[in-house]
Formats: sequence, structure tokens, C-alpha cells
Amino acid sequence: MATRHNPKKPDGYDPIVLTRTTERTVVKGNMRKYGRLSRPLRFYGGITSAQEVGCNLRCKFCFSDKPVRRPHSTGQFYTPQEVFDQLTKAATKYGHTLISASASEGTLGRQHLFELLTLVDKSDFVYVLETNGITLGHDPDFANELSKFKNLHVRVSIKGTNEYEYNQLTGAVSESYNLPFKALKYLMDANVSCNVCLMISFSKQEDIEKAEARLAAIRPGLLKSLEKEHITLFPKVAKRLSNEKLKPRTVRHRGKIIKLKKEESYD
Ligand code: SF4
Repeated sequence: MATRHNPKKPDGYDPIVLTRTTERTVVKGNMRKYGRLSRPLRFYGGITSAQEVGCNLRCKFCFSDKPVRRPHSTGQFYTPQEVFDQLTKAATKYGHTLISASASEGTLGRQHLFELLTLVDKSDFVYVLETNGITLGHDPDFANELSKFKNLHVRVSIKGTNEYEYNQLTGAVSESYNLPFKALKYLMDANVSCNVCLMISFSKQEDIEKAEARLAAIRPGLLKSLEKEHITLFPKVAKRLSNEKLKPRTVRHRGKIIKLKKEESYD
């Protein structure tokens, strides 16, 4: 008797499926949900950023609570024009040339994003697209579409230094760890301005080096603009990590990187 193929049981949720279900909640026509339309942030020497609602990962260290975990009851829908108008008004007031949306996943709702980028392209502002690279790695055409916009920079944020760590930190199926690496390749092949950010708070030095080697294999230049990210232990983050028994090795505190004591770390 023939035995049925028994595929390996997934070790987490599928972030592509979560992309689709989240989009049903936070995207309506060309509108996307936002919590707030503009606030000044200190990154990149000053940037005006909207607070989006809706993400396709559930990182346990994420500082963005309700926009990620309660998209149904958070925020309101806005058109690209409304978002652009508010961002430009606030950026002009603060003297910023960079605008963005943050605190969730920036690639949900492509129509909204493309219409927003079309407006940005007619201005002197540069839009920083913050993404975890899941959707961009899943669909090579996405990077080609983005290459049509000139006032755009994409920041791809990778959650951990290997599949195991990523699965522990996000709860997503291990193999989806490869998607942001694919995203970087597609973006670079399409000549889209981009850089990479690597979450290393939970990582051993040898694993950081392996992840760097993997990035260098895509394009050595990626290491020049690599940002190494450390978590900030906001009370909700600390509680979530403690519930999950996840202990960071390093944290950011008042702008400084603090190495936690040996007994507080994994070793
Ligand atoms: S990808 Fe970013 S916004 Fe989404 S859960 Fe992770 S840290 Fe939060």
C-alpha cells in the first residue's frame, strides 16, 4: 500500500497568509489605516513619520503594541492624499526633508503605497519605506514596481541572525526568514535605493558574523550601510519577553547599548 507524503509540520504561522488577512482589516480601496498622521522622530537626523496600522509579523520585542496586535480597533482610514498632505505640512514645520510611515509594515496596501509614492515623487521629499522584507521577498515584481519611484529609500529590517532565532522572536515559520534576503536582492537588482537593518539583541557574535557574510554574498556594499538594531525594554516589551522566556543579550537604554550581565543572558 502506498504511504501518503507527510510534509514537515510548519513551525509557525505563515506571514504571507497573515499579510492577506491583515490587509483585509487595514486596507480599503486606496485607503490605509493609520493611528496618527505625523510625528517628528530623531532617526536619520530628523524625519516626519506617520504611524501605520497593521503588520504581517508578530515580533515579541516589538514596541508597537496596538497598531500591530489590535488593528481592528486601532486607527482610521486615510487616502494617500490625506497622508501626504499631513506629512508634508508637519515636515515643513520641523524642517525635515525625509518622511515615512512606521510602527507597522509599510508594504501592506500596494495601491495606497504606490499612490502615496506618486505624490512624493512630485515633491522635494524623500520617502523612507520601512519594511520587514516579507512581501518584497515573496514577489519579485514588487521591487520592479518600486523602481519607478525616484524619491524613495527602502529600509529592510531583518529579525534575527538565523532561522531559529527568527522563529523564536517572531513565531513565524522558519523558512520565511529567507524572504528579506531575497527582498534585498530584488531591490538591488532593480536599482532601488535600500539598506538593511539587523536585529542583534538576542544574537551571539558568531551568528551576527554569519548573517553579515550572507548579506555580503548578496552585495558587499550592504555591509557599509548595515544598521545593527537593539531592542528598547519598554514595560510592555519587557513583560512580553518575560512571558516568552526570551532574554536579550543587549538593550538600548537612553541612546546607549547596554550588555546584560552573563547570568541574565542565554549562556
Ligand atoms: S515587523 Fe516591525 S512592526 Fe511588525 S511586529 Fe515586527 S517589529 Fe513590530
